[in-house]
Amino acid sequence: MHTVLKRWKNVCEAIANAQAQRHGKQSPIILIAVAKTQPPEAILPLLEAGHCDFGENRVQEAMRKWPGLKAAYPQARLHLIGSLQANKAQEALSLFDVIHTVDRPSLVDALIKARGEGRGARGKEFFVQVNTGDEPQKGGVIPNEFFRLMDYILAFRPSPLAPLPISGLMCIPPAGDPPAPHFALLRTMAEKSRLAHLSMGMSGDYEMAIRFGATHIRVGTAIFGERQE
Ligand SMILES: *Cc1c(COP(=O)(O)O)cnc(C)c1O
Repeated sequence: MHTVLKRWKNVCEAIANAQAQRHGKQSPIILIAVAKTQPPEAILPLLEAGHCDFGENRVQEAMRKWPGLKAAYPQARLHLIGSLQANKAQEALSLFDVIHTVDRPSLVDALIKARGEGRGARGKEFFVQVNTGDEPQKGGVIPNEFFRLMDYILAFRPSPLAPLPISGLMCIPPAGDPPAPHFALLRTMAEKSRLAHLSMGMSGDYEMAIRFGATHIRVGTAIFGERQE
């Protein structure tokens, strides 16, 4: 069996085990296979096996890799997990199904406008990225400004364009910090905003993220091995 498939199966088992230890209401967990820097040859075994959800962090790289793969494997759903420039909103919506990195009013405006004009803009999902560690260089809205951004997104504006449908929150805990407090903070913020989905947990901490209620985990190296930088 292809190494990527073996690793993917191991991750699926670990997800099932972590989920079994979770108490209370269970929502299904979506495993996003993060394929950034990986060539199509590494991605194809997963597509062949029927895997659906894939992540990329750069619009340009995804535009090179994915239009052909998506045409050949219509089950593929593509998640943008890297920061998005407002001037690429239209392009991103033409390829990605889920955007995990909504973090500022100007991007909200650009996405709403792109959805209004866009082909295939329906059925898209959006997450607000929260910079839970308040790191200056990192994307995401800082916790102090989170509720203001949510108000901006939800506010009625006299506009023919529909508001952006936000389904959950996303975070990337600071490298070197224990991730648990960040996962707990994100969950509290989602509960307060009545958002059902949590995009959190990567190769090193997805099992813990699941215990904290993650619904979407983003796993790269544990499936594909080291990145081909
Ligand atoms: C690269 C990346 C991941 C996956 O990281 P791994 O540690 O390789 O699993 C998850 N989320 C984001 C936002 C990323 O950029």
